[in-house]
Order: sequence, then structure tokens, then C-alpha cells
Amino acid sequence: MRIARYTLGEDPTYGIVQGDPGDEWIAEIQGDPLYQPIVLTGNRVSMADARLLAPVIPRSKVIGIGKNYADHVAEMGGEAPQEPLMFLVPNTAVVGPGDPVVLPRQSNEVHYEGELAVVISRMCKDVPVERVRDVIFGYTCANDVTARDLQRADGQWARAKGFDSFCPLGPWIETDLDTGHLSIVTRRDGKVVQDGTTADMIHDVASLVAHVSATFTLLPGDVILTGTPAGVGPVVDGQRVEVEIEGIGTLSNPFIRRD
Ligand code: MG
Repeated sequence: MRIARYTLGEDPTYGIVQGDPGDEWIAEIQGDPLYQPIVLTGNRVSMADARLLAPVIPRSKVIGIGKNYADHVAEMGGEAPQEPLMFLVPNTAVVGPGDPVVLPRQSNEVHYEGELAVVISRMCKDVPVERVRDVIFGYTCANDVTARDLQRADGQWARAKGFDSFCPLGPWIETDLDTGHLSIVTRRDGKVVQDGTTADMIHDVASLVAHVSATFTLLPGDVILTGTPAGVGPVVDGQRVEVEIEGIGTLSNPFIRRD
């Protein structure tokens, strides 16, 4: 099931995305599916009339995972960490499909990073690997936008990853997905720049959620970014980046500079 959050010009609404790629429509549901059972309202919404929003606004946190694909570790230089490397992204960085990513004046080197994102369904802590599926609401595409120059300069990654608009999510949440072998492709202005597979993750989704939950209490709507494959690179004013994950869909965002 694909769950979208969207607006027709007023308050955000949730719905189930129906139909084939390129011919989708939305069956509206009542309330927020993270907190109540799914009940259809009977309203049918054309995708052309709806503006998709970030499918979830994390209530408390986005947890990023760094260096989780060996080919990306190699391109960055250095070694893969023994344990998953975690960082935090503020929920104010989250934007939705089609929303502009604003290039900050503090950076001259902003990179895209196409990633699979995991959305947590319930409050949980110390989740064993074999029970992780019980705490996952679904999956969406993410772009873990990174100011690479500030990442190098700061050591800590809060600024480099945390600017407003640096965490596009979408286009919707797929609730039923085997994440073991999904192609993950990033395009910059239509040209493929990352072409990876989730099979190449060093730590798989279950291991990551278990590991993260050993540190943090996870809350409904928290998001875990699972790392990026090789091929990261710069994006400049006026370019568009698409992240397409097999079984989910395509997240597309323009990048702009306002100053
Ligand atoms: Mg990343």
C-alpha cells in the first residue's frame, strides 16, 4: 500500500495511492494513518489536483546513517565503520516532492545523496533484529543533501546535513516492501549519477533499526536514512535531482539559490 500526504490547497490530508505509474490517483482516508486505522472517506482525488507533501513530518527526529555502502566509503576515502555511524537531522530539514532545496550561502559544495528511508510506526526501544518489521510503518525515497565543504570543516555533521530543506522525502510511503535487493538510482538533470542496490548495504535495514533503537527511543513518524551508494556529487542552482527506488517511486526536487 502506498500512503501519500497531500493538499488540495488547504490542510494536509492522507490517502492511498492507486493506479499504475504515471496514471495514479488517490483514495482519501480519514486522519493520520500513523495514529489510527485506515478508513476510506470515499473521496477520489486526481493526482493532477493534489500537491504531494512530505509523506511524514518526523515528530522528533531523522536519524542518518553514514558510510553504509562499501563503494561510497571507497569514493570518500577511509574505512567503513565497524558499527553503523549515526547522525541526527532536525525535522525542520524535511521537505516534500517538488519542493525546492535551497542552497545556503555558507556552502559552495552541496551534494545529493539518494537513499532509502525507513519510517517508524510505533514507540520502541531496544528492538531485536527479528522484531524490527513490527516497528516499521513503511519506506520512502530520501535525498540526504549534504554541504560537503561544511561536513569536512565542522567534523560534526549537524550543520552540513541540517539546513532547512536538506531532507526531501517522498513521493509517498510504501508499506509493503522487501528491501533486500532494490535498485536505487539518482539522476541529476536527467543523467544517472548513482546506480546502486540496497543489496550492497553494509548493515541491512533490520540491523540499522535495531542498532538505532539501542540508543534512541523511536517514536511514530521518526525516519531513518539508510546511507547512500557511490556516485555522490555536486548540485548547483537550477538543477533538479531525482531519487528513484524500485518498488517505491521517484522523488524529484529542484535546487535553487536565493541570494
Ligand atoms: Mg547520506
